[in-house]
Amino acid sequence: MRSMKVLIIDDDVDSLAIARLRLKKDGYIIHSAGDGLEGLERAREVDPDVILLDVQMPGKSGFQVCEDLKSDPDLCNIPVVFLSAADDISEKVKGLDLGAVDYVTKPFDIFELRARVRAALRTKRLQELLLKYGEVDSLTEIYNRRVLMERLQQEWDRSLRSNTIFSFIMTDIDEFKNVNDTFGHPVGDDVLEKVAYKLKKSIRSGDIVGRYGGEEFGIIMVNSTVQEAFVAADRYRQEIKKIVFKAKKASFSVTASFGVADSSEKDSLDNLVSAADSAMYEAKESGRNKVCMSD
Ligand code: GH3
Ligand code: MG
Ligand code: MG
Repeated sequence: MRSMKVLIIDDDVDSLAIARLRLKKDGYIIHSAGDGLEGLERAREVDPDVILLDVQMPGKSGFQVCEDLKSDPDLCNIPVVFLSAADDISEKVKGLDLGAVDYVTKPFDIFELRARVRAALRTKRLQELLLKYGEVDSLTEIYNRRVLMERLQQEWDRSLRSNTIFSFIMTDIDEFKNVNDTFGHPVGDDVLEKVAYKLKKSIRSGDIVGRYGGEEFGIIMVNSTVQEAFVAADRYRQEIKKIVFKAKKASFSVTASFGVADSSEKDSLDNLVSAADSAMYEAKESGRNKVCMSD
């Protein structure tokens, strides 16, 4: 197993030295930073498995650093353990509410610190396993493509057995490359997260939404004909258009194109998926921000 990386962000050279020395003996690779800004830079550079973060530092406080970490999609999954001189309950609560996994009061007992680092790393490993074997797309937290396709197969089999009809909706965000090019990749990620969230909140219970690919999503609508799916998709289209995204100097919105098809008169699941896909391309071709129905 690879060595785990610990980043210590602390302006107090003594406590930094002690922690560094003892944790090194446990086989971790230790990186350190003396203030918040340097800490954020190092975090980006080394992608640590856990961050020990001092609360009171000149310049950016530990709380501010934690907020920055948690709002950065590349850094938000790194567990943060706060270090603080104050044994103050409200500070602990604030730190944990900002997304830290744990809190150690300074001057720390080195055995306690080591145990808390081990605990944070256990959580991190479990999280990685969940994502690796899991069913959920890590960015959007909706089903990933594999699960979406499995559920689609189940629905297909069920519809054959029970002689019912279901629909498949495919949607793709319009001109999404422009969003990345204009506002940067992290803003693009934010758009994907919020669009996925909106879809998840808008679908009927029993229906399923998953991430089909980059900026493409698939929705399984149980017990629905293509006409019903058309109405639902048009509602999703309007909901997506209403979301306001904020980038540094601007706010903007996006649109999406939809293709819908149902299972009737399809001789295979592949047929159904490609019918929805072709309808979506028709929506793109005919001007985007539209729903097209397969005939
Ligand atoms: P169209 O209206 O024809 O769909 O145009 P488009 O720009 O949306 O389509 P295109 O396929 O040219 O570009 C899709 C872009 O989506 C390119 C790719 O970099 C971006 N993308 C895919 N996955 C992600 C992701 O996870 N995050 C971000 N930020 N961008 C992604
Ligand atoms: Mg697109
Ligand atoms: Mg696409």
